[in-house]
Amino acid sequence: MPVTTPAARAAAPPSHTAVPQDFGALARQDPEIGGILLAEAGRQSSTLQLIAAENFTSPAVLAALGSPLANKYAEGYPGARHHGGCEQADAAERVAVRRAMSLFGAEHANVQPHSGSSAVLAAYAALLRPGDTVLAMGLPYGGHLTHGAPGNFSGRWFEFAGYGVDPDSGLIDYTQVRALARARRPKAIVCGSISYPRHPDYEQFRDIADEVGAYLIADAAHPMGLIAGGAAPSPVPYADVVCATTHKVLRGPRGGMILCGVELSERIDRAVFPFTQGGAQMHTVAAKAVAFGEAATPAYAVYAHRVVAHARALAAALEDEGFEVTTGGTDTHIVVADPGPLGVDGRTARERLMAAGMVLDTCALPYGDARGIRLGTAAVTTQGMDEDDMARIAALFGAAVRQEGDPAVLRAEARGLAERNPPYPG
Ligand SMILES: *Cc1c(COP(=O)(O)O)cnc(C)c1O
Repeated sequence: MPVTTPAARAAAPPSHTAVPQDFGALARQDPEIGGILLAEAGRQSSTLQLIAAENFTSPAVLAALGSPLANKYAEGYPGARHHGGCEQADAAERVAVRRAMSLFGAEHANVQPHSGSSAVLAAYAALLRPGDTVLAMGLPYGGHLTHGAPGNFSGRWFEFAGYGVDPDSGLIDYTQVRALARARRPKAIVCGSISYPRHPDYEQFRDIADEVGAYLIADAAHPMGLIAGGAAPSPVPYADVVCATTHKVLRGPRGGMILCGVELSERIDRAVFPFTQGGAQMHTVAAKAVAFGEAATPAYAVYAHRVVAHARALAAALEDEGFEVTTGGTDTHIVVADPGPLGVDGRTARERLMAAGMVLDTCALPYGDARGIRLGTAAVTTQGMDEDDMARIAALFGAAVRQEGDPAVLRAEARGLAERNPPYPG
């Protein structure tokens, strides 16, 4: 699949062209919180947002979040609510469901999960019993908390087996996945990760799941926006259930969603409400509908391809700076880099980068105990940055981590780059 279209290489305009909100009235009524919100808006527009799970939602999404639907109680589903006065709530949810189904080619969509973790919880609740075995990517390799972390419901209530990646290539070792599946006979297999920069091979996962009679759950929280824009393969034809967030590359409100076929639809719906949640957040559901509408446009497809092209450019430029990029590059918005060759681990690198105005995460590396850094290009691409800007960011990374030059000067450069590309121009 071509992931760099000619359009992706053209100049990248910013995605948003309006100011989100005027905090002035709030700042007058509640200076304490108003001041915090203004300071946060300033932080977001004066530093570089490179956290792979973050993005800048559109003013239209923010408007839906701040709408009167925030006041509405709506337990249940459209046409079957426990509260009165749900006409508009029903209409909003129907639009969100219809748009999600058409955007992803799914037979059924549940748009109520409050978060990605809530979506995974509901998927497990629909398909599993406590004590069942689940095969998922091991946490040291990029599995999410909901993939068996001891402090999470998943690790407490299910028996997790973890697959890893090949230590040399950094790629999922499907021979190991198949061997673990044969040995452990899981009830479900989960594919999806917080830091794997390549596409899972959904067809192979389906084949392994079929061999051992397991459900296949795709946790596509990260790449869902790339999938919407045609810049990543879709798990929908292969997985029994697809869980996702709506706030990462997809650029919607903070929240989750679940896609599945008709045969599991009732079980999934009951697992969301009433099993794991009460009233849906209807303002968020409306905002999800807005985001799905935006993600169905040609402009969003161009954006999604650009996000990948920018991640590839950033990965290559970071390698030139001496970082070791896991898997040798990326197919997605995620870049995982080991700053080890520059003499520091991910934690120290992040401290130095934060001091220079660049905001990012550390993450596990597929080998050894040292941590790496994880970055994503979804937010900077929404701002309208281009491939030359990725090279500038990599140069700032090299200088900051190697402690070449004054962090204040580097911070001013990062700030200049951010301010030349405001997330909300005007
Ligand atoms: C982000 C993410 C989640 C959870 O999302 P929250 O909204 O933070 O609960 C779950 N799984 C994966 C793979 C993720 O990347």
